[in-house]
Amino acid sequence: MIASECAPVAKVGGLADVVYGLSKNLELRGNSVEILLPKYDCLRNDQITDLTLFYKDLSVPWNRGAVRCSVWLGSVSGRKCFFIEPHSNENFFARRVIYGCADDGMRFAFFCKAALEFLFKSGKRPNIIHCHDWMTGLCGALLYELYQSQGMEAVRVCSTIHNFRHQGIVGENILYATGLGRPEYFFRPESMRDVSNPRALNLMKAEIMYSNFVTTVSPYYAWEAMNTEQGCGLGPLLILNQHKFAGILNGIDYDVWNPESDRFIPVRYNADSVEEKLRDKNALRDYFHLREDSKPLIAYVGRLDEQKGIHLIRHALSYAPLHGAQFVFLGTSHDSALNNQFMTLKKQLVNHQDCAIELNFNEELSHLIYAGADMVIVPSMFEPCGLTQLIALKYGAVPIVREVGGLINTVFDRDYSDQPPQLRNGFTFHHTDTTAIESALYRALDLWYNHPRDFQSLQRNGMRYDFSWNVSGGKYQEIYERITLSERKTVL
Ligand code: ADP
Repeated sequence: MIASECAPVAKVGGLADVVYGLSKNLELRGNSVEILLPKYDCLRNDQITDLTLFYKDLSVPWNRGAVRCSVWLGSVSGRKCFFIEPHSNENFFARRVIYGCADDGMRFAFFCKAALEFLFKSGKRPNIIHCHDWMTGLCGALLYELYQSQGMEAVRVCSTIHNFRHQGIVGENILYATGLGRPEYFFRPESMRDVSNPRALNLMKAEIMYSNFVTTVSPYYAWEAMNTEQGCGLGPLLILNQHKFAGILNGIDYDVWNPESDRFIPVRYNADSVEEKLRDKNALRDYFHLREDSKPLIAYVGRLDEQKGIHLIRHALSYAPLHGAQFVFLGTSHDSALNNQFMTLKKQLVNHQDCAIELNFNEELSHLIYAGADMVIVPSMFEPCGLTQLIALKYGAVPIVREVGGLINTVFDRDYSDQPPQLRNGFTFHHTDTTAIESALYRALDLWYNHPRDFQSLQRNGMRYDFSWNVSGGKYQEIYERITLSERKTVL
């Protein structure tokens, strides 16, 4: 796995959980998995054990010279992780953040180059390199154009696209820096030239072209990417490459996300003791200084980003206390305007007895929220897979979601789904206006207040679903086996 994130050492969103969870499942299936990550200065070092220097002086060709790197090896909750630390004036990974720098394109192009150089020089010849999003999208091109002919013929590339919105649009300088060169070759429309800007290269496009197989994170998002604006310009290319493109639902790691064994919640429970959630709800209320009352508690946990339906989150936050519910919000943003907007709201809610906002990234608190909440909203504008609703289901927090992407594959409306009643597990709505979410919230609150037994049945239905990596891990294994036998040549 070559990735820019891995939970819990370097996590911004779901990509991190996927890298960790899929790797773990693949190992349970008997594979040997190694994860390559940048050695960010903001890694959660408390989550790494046995960190040792593995490769002292890795010289990575870069621009006209080379960058010296140290490669560290450590264990992250049982996974074998290598961390690449460059020593150069650019300080690529010493920025106190994972993303959000003006030179992100260059930073991650460097990471791809260093990762390939590391494999090459350390004699590692994996059957499969699995890349994730544009940040590691250049690995396939580097492998195919530079390294394969030097003894890495047998290596195949599988890439997973977690979000088509961010594609890694970069300039010609990337080609010179990485040693790919030949702009006339790479700027061809059938190579990595961006679809809308002929003077730019598109690293996600490169990823699609140069991978032996491309997945995205749910079947419905795969369809949306090919057939709607969700492909963000890459739809036609995906249709052309349908033979090597599929949507595979993300799983979650039930060793981490399981109310029966969760070490971050005061009271553990399962589908047969879902009423115990009340005690976690009271612990959550304590944390936020909310009143204890016979009211349902609605939560939002996630990045603060336009993707997530900010106006609908805000609407739910104001709707809840007016309609007999409490609301807690946990989220943070890279966008300071959005953070400020919610900071203002947070100040207005000081001493509020029914609503609270935490503007932070807090993994431990998120566990308590899933355990304590009766309902979790995911009103996304688009949602490739979504892990929040999968976790919520496991914790008996009924998801209220918008019908997009992976949310369609995982949440089935209690009243309107064509699934049999025992498989219905939440509430869904379609439109992006506030009345749409209101109608779903209304139905959820009505069920909680007026039909508590039915509400509990709905919680249990959700808790009984298996969204672990068991199923999806097997699908990835099949893909790996298929491409291991395939021709070296990719689409190019
Ligand atoms: P995305 O990848 O778009 O961020 P997902 O739903 O796929 O969204 O994954 C989000 C993951 O990140 C979930 O595990 C969620 O609990 C977690 N998460 C998001 N924001 C926070 C936060 N502020 N604090 C703790 N966990 C968070």
